[in-house]
Amino acid sequence: MGLFIAVEISEDRCVGIDDCGECVKVCPVRIFEGEHGIPSIVQGNEDECILCDQCLEGCAKDAISISKKY
Ligand code: SF4
Ligand code: SF4
Repeated sequence: MGLFIAVEISEDRCVGIDDCGECVKVCPVRIFEGEHGIPSIVQGNEDECILCDQCLEGCAKDAISISKKY
């Protein structure tokens, strides 16, 4: 969790990188990473989120949530 932004993935909803991986591909600041399974959140990058919504738009499972903490 970042100081200003928290990015979370619902493990119940996410279908995993092998079947999707869209968030890993689209995020310009590399907040999502991994090669298989549920993507990991790179906690040190969360505050770099530019709120571009590409991950939210790309996730067909509505599994990602982004919250501002300020
Ligand atoms: S909103 Fe943009 S910058 Fe933020 S996590 Fe999603 S893709 Fe990355
Ligand atoms: S885009 Fe959504 S469903 Fe696809 S890997 Fe990311 S969180 Fe999971």
